[in-house]
Amino acid sequence: KAVRPQIFAKFSTAAEPSSKQPSPLRVPNLIGGAFVDSRSSTSIDVINPATQEVVSQVPLTTNEEFKAAVSAAKQAFPSWRNTPITTRQRIMFKLQELIRRDIDKLAINITTEQGKTLKDAHGDVFRGLEVVEHACGMATLQMGEYVPNVSNGIDTYSIREPLGVCAGICPFNFPAMIPLWMFPVAVACGNTFVLKPSEKDPGTHMYDYRLGKHITMHAGDIYSGNIYGFHFLGEWTTNHSDYLCFSHEGASIMLAELAMEAGLPNGVLNIVHGTNDIVNAICDDEDIRAISFVGSNTAGMHIYARGSAAGKRVQSNMGAKNHGIVLPDASIDATLNALVAAGFGAAGQRCMALSTVVFVGDSKSLEDKLVERAKALKVNAGTEPDADLGPVISKQAKERICRLIQSGVESGARLLLDGRNIVVPGYEHGNFIGPTILTDVTADMECYKEEIFGPVLLCMRADSLEEAINIVNKNKYGNGASIFTSSGIAARKFHTEIEAGQVGINVPIPVPLPFFSFTGSKASFAGDLNFYGKAGVNFYTQIKTITQQWKDLPGGSGVSLAMPTSQ
Ligand code: NAD
Repeated sequence: KAVRPQIFAKFSTAAEPSSKQPSPLRVPNLIGGAFVDSRSSTSIDVINPATQEVVSQVPLTTNEEFKAAVSAAKQAFPSWRNTPITTRQRIMFKLQELIRRDIDKLAINITTEQGKTLKDAHGDVFRGLEVVEHACGMATLQMGEYVPNVSNGIDTYSIREPLGVCAGICPFNFPAMIPLWMFPVAVACGNTFVLKPSEKDPGTHMYDYRLGKHITMHAGDIYSGNIYGFHFLGEWTTNHSDYLCFSHEGASIMLAELAMEAGLPNGVLNIVHGTNDIVNAICDDEDIRAISFVGSNTAGMHIYARGSAAGKRVQSNMGAKNHGIVLPDASIDATLNALVAAGFGAAGQRCMALSTVVFVGDSKSLEDKLVERAKALKVNAGTEPDADLGPVISKQAKERICRLIQSGVESGARLLLDGRNIVVPGYEHGNFIGPTILTDVTADMECYKEEIFGPVLLCMRADSLEEAINIVNKNKYGNGASIFTSSGIAARKFHTEIEAGQVGINVPIPVPLPFFSFTGSKASFAGDLNFYGKAGVNFYTQIKTITQQWKDLPGGSGVSLAMPTSQ
């Protein structure tokens, strides 16, 4: 049986000074089926937000390499689009099986780079996996329409064809789910793809120094080699935290490996890393036909404008401020649990986090109970089994969140629970913020107008459901909104009048499953066709309509130049 050298256990401890770590891995690009290091000399450190260890370095891919990725996707397109849809579906079937096989490994790698708890990281993978499952039925989803005999002996039918090369630009907060919202649907439709993961959690790869190449390992693999410059002989395990040190293979790279293992041909999926320059290159590139973007409004509106100006389809899912309205007749226990889970889960770094509660009527006792429950949450590194919420992504994010909390206090909000000074034993340098609750918040405060994207719950008050709906509708964002009530009449009024794209009734995070679509609205979405579901298939396909006639045409009846009409 394989032996595990001590050195790895040693390097995995959080307290280990970073100077003793082997030099960090550079995240490779994936171009034409090969994982290749960028020639760029500029890279950004990817930092474990719980420990501040440098997990890896992400290169700012050169323009030449970007062009090579697009060219690989362009070359792969003709044969991929002609690959039978049943074959494309079978690759999706295999991909979903492989994601299930490696879900533990994917989750631990997400936690290492992104910080969320392992349980939450599983959810991240699982919600993406469901999109892959849906893409397994692409033949039915992509089906066209047929009307026989639209005119005498003439039939018309329409088919949904792939567009060509499509691109995806991802945020940091769901390193598995969001790439999986994009490329499985795109490639199952017959497109080829260039993915740009977030530079904050781009996904690393294991590199064998002896072989001089990147390697892939799966749970149960026996490996003898030279990872990180140290000889390693052992069995790969995903369920032991001691081995975190060499499991720095993040979600997007792993998913691409799995897709290739599932049978995706070289060049169908490519990955390039970088920041603004590479994003602008995607917007401007003549061979890219469509862009899927998920992230902040600043980047999203820029990409929507620049990509559209260059003639591309763009779907842009952006920021949010989701409200939960609580009526006095709501089931108290269930509602409080829902508010705590949806406000503080993933440390508030979800675009569908419920970040604002509007209590209708007296809220004092509910706020007290909310504080009690929020206080009981355990803030810890995501790898610790008792963690309810992990750190936020970066020092800068922590500073911004703390500044917005302070601005709320200075403009008159009351701090019911302050998580800013939390210290997590063993992870003193982590970017932790404990659950924070501000009340007496009003619509003119900066903390209300801005998306905080941290574990901060704002409480507001309204005298009636009417007034509460008004508050929500005046907010510029429209990603999601929920109501907590036992009245069907109130719920119906709410879902009819509320201006948000994803509505929950006693459901705090109403993110639709992939047979529907992710339907944010107002400032939370730009574009016409939403992510996944039927709209997602429509986004990645264009309609061609064919009119055919197979009959002997009458000979000597002459030529008519009049507009043909159906007879
Ligand atoms: P971000 O906008 O900073 O980054 C997203 C991507 O855009 C990254 O790949 C980044 O490299 C690129 N980018 C950033 N600034 C850019 C610029 N000026 N020019 C060109 N490219 C740029 O977002 P983030 O911080 O990674 O993610 C958090 C945001 O994403 C939040 O606003 C959250 O609400 C939003 N989000 C929305 C959804 C949704 O479905 N609506 C889902 C997840 C996250």
